[in-house]
Amino acid sequence: MFQYQCLNPISKVGLDGFTNDYIKTEEIEKADAILVRSASMHEMKLPENIQAIARAGAGVNNIPLKDCAEQGIVVFNTPGANANGVKEMVIAGMLLASRDIVGGVEWVKQEKDNENVGKLAEKQKKQFAGCEIKGKKLGVIGLGAIGAMVANTAIYLGMEVYGYDPYISVDTAWKLSREIKHIANVEDIFKECDYITLHVPLLDSTKGMISKDSIAMMKDGVVLLNFSRDLLVDETALVEALEAGKVKKYVTDFANPTVAGAKNTLVTPHLGASTAESEDNCACMAVKELRAYLEN
Ligand code: NAD
Repeated sequence: MFQYQCLNPISKVGLDGFTNDYIKTEEIEKADAILVRSASMHEMKLPENIQAIARAGAGVNNIPLKDCAEQGIVVFNTPGANANGVKEMVIAGMLLASRDIVGGVEWVKQEKDNENVGKLAEKQKKQFAGCEIKGKKLGVIGLGAIGAMVANTAIYLGMEVYGYDPYISVDTAWKLSREIKHIANVEDIFKECDYITLHVPLLDSTKGMISKDSIAMMKDGVVLLNFSRDLLVDETALVEALEAGKVKKYVTDFANPTVAGAKNTLVTPHLGASTAESEDNCACMAVKELRAYLEN
C-alpha cells in the first residue's frame, strides 16, 4: 500500500521544500522515498532506508547525486512537466525587456494622486518607448523540453530563431519547427543574436558559459535571459557589461545580491515553474514515478 506523509504542513500538495526543522524529524527516517521540489538536499544526511528520491521539477542540482549513487538511491525528475510554465515566463521576460511595461506602470502609480495624470502621460510616455521582438534574432541555448517550446513560440511571434544543442534527442528534434536554424558552434549564437536565452542544465561543462569572453563576442545591446540556473553566468562580468551598456537587459529568475539591484536587470524569485498547472503536473508525475518504482 502506497502511503505518503506531508512533511510541510503549509503545502497544499505536500511538495514544498524541506526546511531544516523537517529534515530533522523522525518521520523521514521511516520513509521509503522522498519527494522534493527545489530545496537543497546537499546538507541533509540521507536516511538509510530511502530507496528513491523524486525531484518534482527538471534541474537535479539540489540533489546530492554522488551520495545517492553510492547509497544505491534511485533519483527521478519530472522531465517536461513544468516546461510550459517556464516557457511563458521566458516569453514574458523577452517582452518586458523590450517594452518598458514595468517602468510605465510604476510611473502611473507614482502619479496616482495627480488629477492631470492623463495629460502628463502623453508628455512622459516617450521615456518608456520600446522595440518589438518580431524580426529580431533569438538564440536558444539548450533545445530540451523548455528550450524547444521557447524556440517554437518565438517562431510564431515572428522572431528569427537560432538553436544550439549538441545533444538534442530525436524526440525533441521532431517537436521543433523546421524554421529553427541549427547552429553548430555556440560562438555563432553569441555573435549573431539580439536575444539569447539559456535552457541548459547546470553541469561542470555549462557552469560559467556566459563569461567575460563570451559577453565580449556578443552584439552591443544584446538581451540575455537566464531562467535555467544562476551559476551558468559569471554575474560579476555581466554586471560590468550592463553598466557599460554592452548588455542592454538581463532577465533572470535567480535573485542573487550581485544582480538584484544592478542596472537594467529584471529579477524574479525563481518563479518560472510557479504556476498551479506546472506544480500539479510535476507533483503527479513524481508520485506516479515513485509509485511505479516502489510497487514493482
Ligand atoms: P531538458 O533536460 O529537457 O533540456 C536541457 C537541454 O540542454 C538538453 O536538450 C541537453 O542536450 C542540452 N544541453 C546540455 N548541455 C548543453 C550545452 N553545453 N550546450 C547546449 N545544450 C546543452 O531540461 P529542461 O526541462 O528544458 O530544463 C532546462 C533547465 O531549466 C533545467 O536544468 C533547470 O536548471 C531549469 N529550470 C528552471 C526552472 C525555473 O523555475 N526557472 C524550471 C524548470 C527548469
